[in-house]
Amino acid sequence: MIQKLLAEKHFSLSFEIFPTRSTTNKSLRIILKMIVKLERYHPDFISVTFGVGGINKKNATEIANYIKIIGSRALSHITAIGYTKKEVKRILSDLYIAEVRNILALRGDISPDFKSAQKGKPDFKYARDLIKYIKDDGRFCIGAAVYPEGHPECPDLKKNMDYFEQKIDAGASFFITQVFFDNSKFFNFIDQVKKRKLDHVKIIPGIMPVYDKSLLEKILHLSKASIPENLKHIRDTYEGEDFKKAGMEFSIKQVDNLLKNIPDNSGIHLYTMNKVKYIREIIKTLNIV
Ligand code: FAD
Repeated sequence: MIQKLLAEKHFSLSFEIFPTRSTTNKSLRIILKMIVKLERYHPDFISVTFGVGGINKKNATEIANYIKIIGSRALSHITAIGYTKKEVKRILSDLYIAEVRNILALRGDISPDFKSAQKGKPDFKYARDLIKYIKDDGRFCIGAAVYPEGHPECPDLKKNMDYFEQKIDAGASFFITQVFFDNSKFFNFIDQVKKRKLDHVKIIPGIMPVYDKSLLEKILHLSKASIPENLKHIRDTYEGEDFKKAGMEFSIKQVDNLLKNIPDNSGIHLYTMNKVKYIREIIKTLNIV
């Protein structure tokens, strides 16, 4: 269980991967090969995302099972929005059969289409409702998402902290942050966590390598993460290969700064975007493993 492992270690290294939309054997094989490459860096766990509404649920479960088979720990994401309790019960059973014991419990993003199609009271309104449900099931270790800069639907940092606390009360024992590029936002958040005496739970900063300008723009738009001056300069000055080089230098410095300043009880979670090459560059340059 990840909670036990995190309690025993001062530093953890983990990765996030996502199942492709394609369900062909070929695309599954590509993902499995990528996992083998990531395994060389001895991650403490590899998390596997889950599309809202369960797109690629079967693939995600197979991938998590494979991570387990090759001797690593899998953290399977579940997004609750649109699901009934009965459906989540089924998903939990499938994951349990696939030997997955760790779940990142999320609400998921609500699309406008989904909002208009929704009828009646949902079984899971917020992530905390899913966390409570999985906690009552009793078979899994539960993690959840946290937002150092607030959530796009709720920029109020005080409320954001209240909801974080509700997730702990519901049963989440560790957290992974939304992507951020300005480390000071993360450190401010950790200060607030300490002030609220909630620092007994592990909060792992989630970092995305910067190698593609349009991807960066997309993530900035979706997450509403702030962009520090040095990254803004890179975005506004470079294109193509020059952007990639400058972006990766930025990411390496960002992770280096985190490694030097994160609290003892923490780690690094790298959003791989399914591109091992950039993860390798960060890990090798900083000699993380
Ligand atoms: P919640 O904590 O329920 O928050 C949702 C909104 O409700 C927020 O605005 C929050 O402020 C507000 N809120 C929370 N509790 C209350 C309350 N009691 N009263 C009033 N308002 C409240 N998405 C995917 O589709 N698949 C994935 O695999 C996936 N993985 C992710 C992994 C990480 C580490 C992170 C940070 C995000 C991930 N997401 C994923 C995105 C996530 O689903 C969205 O950010 C989603 O909008 C919120 O999910 P949540 O679990 O944080 O929800």
